[in-house]
Amino acid sequence: MQYEDYISSFNSKYSKARHNFLTAAVDRATLLKSWQHPLRGIAGEKLYLDLAWFGDLAAQKVLLSISGTHGVEGYCGSGIQVGSMRTGWHLQADSEVAIVMIHGLNPYGMSHLRRVNEDGVDLNRNFLDFQQPLPKNTFYDDLADIVIPQQWTQTTQTETLDQITEYLYSRPSGLADLAKGQYQHWYAPFYGGEVPTWSNRMLNHISDRYLGDRQAVGLLDYHTGLGPYATGQLMSLPVGDGHNQNLASAIWGDKLIVTGSEESVAAYFPQGTLIAALQEKFVNSTCIAAVYEFGTISETEVFSALRADHWLHTHGDLNTQQAVEIKQKMLDAFYSDRPDWQKSICNLAFTAQEELLAGLRSL
Ligand SMILES: [Zn+2]
Repeated sequence: MQYEDYISSFNSKYSKARHNFLTAAVDRATLLKSWQHPLRGIAGEKLYLDLAWFGDLAAQKVLLSISGTHGVEGYCGSGIQVGSMRTGWHLQADSEVAIVMIHGLNPYGMSHLRRVNEDGVDLNRNFLDFQQPLPKNTFYDDLADIVIPQQWTQTTQTETLDQITEYLYSRPSGLADLAKGQYQHWYAPFYGGEVPTWSNRMLNHISDRYLGDRQAVGLLDYHTGLGPYATGQLMSLPVGDGHNQNLASAIWGDKLIVTGSEESVAAYFPQGTLIAALQEKFVNSTCIAAVYEFGTISETEVFSALRADHWLHTHGDLNTQQAVEIKQKMLDAFYSDRPDWQKSICNLAFTAQEELLAGLRSL
């Protein structure tokens, strides 16, 4: 792949990213399907979850990649999906292994430059059984109104960050509690909701309709915002019977880190994740699944952008210069238009995809 091709595979406008995806997929897709979201995007555009299927619809093994679980993070995953199609990688799909791409799983968050969805819900904390009592999180009971203060000025940012830092130092589990998920404070980050969201229901529909009864499903769910700039970390969850975990380790070797372990860029075990839900759903299939997390700017800046965005949608005014600046910070926190970043993450992702494909074939 030529240097310039990396650049043109990425676009940080929802409609253009989607157009790139559909254009790259259309010629060779066995199936191309789109589901329209009930709401509109930031520029009034229509929003869709798109699915491209390559290879045989009845293939016993499926390699699935997902972009946009966390909205704004989807510009990275979209670029990877488009880039890999431009290299012709997807043409390896056949009667044995299908290659499937879901583009813009949370298209509302993607377009509106939010990590959460239209309800302020973190989709990757939303895959819970809502018939059961919801998990408690005392961090947010104590600090939700400090994390998202009434005013967002330089002074309140500094003061509240000091309070948060002090709290985190005083409790060993503080950092984990900050990000593992919470179910009581809708306006704060990492809120998992109280019902399955649109994207959750769509993914369940797609899983039931298209992915069930396979010998094996391999999943790469693309994320950004954790870890050093332009580096990646492949993360799996310590769930299931160990069989899937052993296969994943055999495929990706030392690159694969268990979420919540000491080496992990996510020093917590999140609740209600997409991967856990799919592994549970496909309990009769082999299900090898990982999140690929790519670093952007510093974690402090990412956290600040996230707080600002939640403040904006709770107490702020979207029609202000401040809103424009906050949205730009969100994009900078979860995406980069720098060629070196795009090249680096494409190389990492393409390798992981290739390894997963080889692993599925070897089963
Ligand atoms: Zn994410």
